[in-house]
Amino acid sequence: ESEALPFVASKVSQYSCQRKTTLNNCNKKFTDAFEIMAENYEFKENEIFCLEFLRAASVLKFLPFPVIRMKDIQGLPCMGDRVRDVIEEIIEEGESSRAKEVLNDERYKSFKQFTSVFGVGVKTSEKWYRMGLRTLEDIKADKSLKLSKMQKAGFLYYEDLVSCVSKAEADAVSLIVRNTVCTFLPDALVTITGGFRRGKKTGHDIDFLITNPGPREDDDLLHKVVDLWKKQGLLLYCDIIESTFLKEQMPSRKVDAMDSFQKCFAILKLCQPRVDNSCYNTSKNIDMAEVKDWKAIRVDLIIAPFEQYAFALLGWTGSRQFGRDLRRYAIHEKKMILDNHALYDRKKRIFLKARSEEEIFAHLDLDYVEPWERNA
Ligand code: ATP
Ligand code: MN
Ligand code: MN
Repeated sequence: ESEALPFVASKVSQYSCQRKTTLNNCNKKFTDAFEIMAENYEFKENEIFCLEFLRAASVLKFLPFPVIRMKDIQGLPCMGDRVRDVIEEIIEEGESSRAKEVLNDERYKSFKQFTSVFGVGVKTSEKWYRMGLRTLEDIKADKSLKLSKMQKAGFLYYEDLVSCVSKAEADAVSLIVRNTVCTFLPDALVTITGGFRRGKKTGHDIDFLITNPGPREDDDLLHKVVDLWKKQGLLLYCDIIESTFLKEQMPSRKVDAMDSFQKCFAILKLCQPRVDNSCYNTSKNIDMAEVKDWKAIRVDLIIAPFEQYAFALLGWTGSRQFGRDLRRYAIHEKKMILDNHALYDRKKRIFLKARSEEEIFAHLDLDYVEPWERNA
């Protein structure tokens, strides 16, 4: 029963929710180039070309073998001419001249720097670039620029935030989040979502989904949690977005829609116990008070009502490409609308309830895909 089936390219689905994509990518050479191309199109707000390269990257991440000749991609979905040109060149030359051009492009380099700051997106980058600003030094030097509270925090903690969050750091923060939430709601369910739930060893942030299985709703939970962290000196930044969800609201048809949950984009101060180097330090006369013993960590906290928990978990586990394809598949193949809150059947004109991710896949007639197989 567990015997491997022969690989048939023409049977590969165009939707990543019908594929199992683990973190073992044997085509990194290609997918790295595709992701650079996609990012450059994102910076140019060319969504069509951007998605074309992201979809192609996702297909090659799923392939169980490395591509070595053009014949290897025959019959695969999402392999348009632009994509094939890049693959062909990498096969022949070992690298893509187009991706290399992008990496050397002044506009791309500036946008890459600007968007690496927490709170800075493509729109702000565009504005700064048009003003003739090119580097982060230019931004810091321009005292007339009006930075948002978020961007100020982004610059203040820049070095910590660009260095990746490790699994160990995620576990340490997870303990803090669980402890604090349970102080106020002992029965609350706190789940790590995002990349760490998909088995990634590092991330740019840590995503937590919080729900209360009991009958009791507590709209103040998030405020209580951040207030306590403030008192404890653990909160470096926080932006609470209140829920805008309306009862029975239609799921959003937008493939990249933001959801309406109450949430908080925060920066936590994670204190890292210093390794005891006292014998060295005294001999070298280093003042321990000057050694920074904490790290700023980006944390997303999302509060979901219990009946929407499975949809929120599916949406916030990602990957982003996996989520896009789930929604696209639901609309085009099932005439259903899926978002982070609900699933609506347009033919039957009913909401389909689900208590687990498995039930959502079943409603969509999809084989279940485990979180670590959603690295599309
Ligand atoms: P990383 O390791 O870089 O953090 P990630 O997969 O965890 O990778 P995130 O940006 O943290 O990426 O997002 C996690 C998931 O939540 C993704 O599937 C993304 O689509 C979704 N998501 C992120 N921000 C929002 C938002 N504001 N509203 C709805 N969904 C979001
Ligand atoms: Mn994340
Ligand atoms: Mn996140």
